[in-house]
Amino acid sequence: MLDTPKHSVPAVATAPHTFTSNRGLDQEEPLLFEIGRPEVSGVDIEAPAPFAARLGGLERKTAIGLPGLSEPEAVRHYVRLSRKNYSIDAGLYPLGSCTMKHNPRLNEKMARLEGFADIHPLQPQSTVQGALALMQELSRWLLELTHMSAVALSPKAGAHGELCGLMTIKTAIAARGETGSRNVVLIPQSAHGTNPASAALLGFMVRTVPAGADGIVHSEAVAAAVGPDVAAIMLTNPNTCGLFERDVVAIARLVRDAGGYFYCDGANFNAIAGVARPGDMGVDAMHLNLHKTFSTPHGGGGPGSGPVVLSSRLAPFAPVPFLAREGETLRLVEHSEGTASFGRMVAFHGQMGMFVRALSYMLSHGSDGLAQASRDAVLSANYVRASLRDVMSQPFGDRPCMHEVLFDDAWLQGTSVTTLDFAKAMIDEGYHPMTVYFPLVAHGAMLVEPTESESKASLDLFIATLRDLARSALSGDSRRFSSAPHYAPRRRLDETAAARQPVLRWRPGG
Ligand SMILES: *Cc1c(COP(=O)(O)O)cnc(C)c1O
Repeated sequence: MLDTPKHSVPAVATAPHTFTSNRGLDQEEPLLFEIGRPEVSGVDIEAPAPFAARLGGLERKTAIGLPGLSEPEAVRHYVRLSRKNYSIDAGLYPLGSCTMKHNPRLNEKMARLEGFADIHPLQPQSTVQGALALMQELSRWLLELTHMSAVALSPKAGAHGELCGLMTIKTAIAARGETGSRNVVLIPQSAHGTNPASAALLGFMVRTVPAGADGIVHSEAVAAAVGPDVAAIMLTNPNTCGLFERDVVAIARLVRDAGGYFYCDGANFNAIAGVARPGDMGVDAMHLNLHKTFSTPHGGGGPGSGPVVLSSRLAPFAPVPFLAREGETLRLVEHSEGTASFGRMVAFHGQMGMFVRALSYMLSHGSDGLAQASRDAVLSANYVRASLRDVMSQPFGDRPCMHEVLFDDAWLQGTSVTTLDFAKAMIDEGYHPMTVYFPLVAHGAMLVEPTESESKASLDLFIATLRDLARSALSGDSRRFSSAPHYAPRRRLDETAAARQPVLRWRPGG
């Protein structure tokens, strides 16, 4: 294993000042508005012929204030910005809970086929039968992998899928006439923040279920919290500590016996796809992140895709549109048409480009390949865990994890280094940090999800890097941490101020 530092870290204070503030290939880049001049344009547009305004005096009289750049200026601007971006195409991206796996280029090629890329959602359905057939085939794979009854393809992210699943549950409860009395959603302490947010958005009360000392939810804790007021439980499996919820079947039974529904947050499906089926665990509704498990690109705000699979108990309440086969023809049912559907969640039909990429991923892997990917994801995480467990501490003891491994900061006690410092120092080493301070159940959490895409050599270098950083931290070399990152375009930002008082608008002279 690569376990000796290859170089010493130069003291950054002595790095020479540059006139431009550029540092080698890392170039400073102002805003478009700051580099542009309004009179400049990348294209020549003829002055319009004289015309009479027909806006009754409401037409704009002043310049609209768009930046003006030549084509080379515009190209450089975006290329320079893109080089400040870390991406899965640049290096290992161990951001726990996000499944930053390789996006196969075959998927991109398929998504660019004219028949998928150049169609419009308002085209007559008779002209897009191939696209509908693709959606049907994707649905079949999702239902097969999850062993569920129905799927709503339209939600556009995992959190949107949560909302969709809970709206379905809310509608089912209303159909039973229990709207006022059944308004509590049980959510484990370790849940992703989107879970309580989705429940609260729909007016449910959130009741927290504690996790055990071993990091999983025990059926006794659910038994103590469940009652006739419980609409649903939202459980993530594998959970956000990277552990499989072993009591899942008993938990599902408890909630269902009390008249509630079992919502499973399926964002971590990458650990079990092709190996275990949520339908066998008693799940009623679950979102799948195509942009995590099925390799469609994500980050930077989208586009995501979060289809929701439903049990037979919830299927009648699924949103429109859904696919129906009528003889040889596929039809998107766009209005409730007398069904119990709660209605529509998005303007059109969902993220077609992501559907194509996800199905392309599934077909190119096959069912055996999907199971292999899940097993490899779990193997990678356990390899990282086993290679670091002698230096870094794990909050719930030393035992196998699923697709991600959780460390805490107990091993940093007595040093001046915090989880945040450690993460920032990883940036200097050319890695995107792991997820930090989440889940909240672990003190100073560091959640590492290497995914199945990394080679052993890549994992070995990552492990050796973390071991080297750990050795520095434990030997009191605080220089490497306290002001890291030293080599990033920006150093430590005031993240709290950026979140609380974001400056989102450029103003002239401002
Ligand atoms: C990523 C994630 C979500 C939210 O998915 P988005 O597509 O980002 O909205 C929800 N729950 C868990 C456990 C996740 O990892």
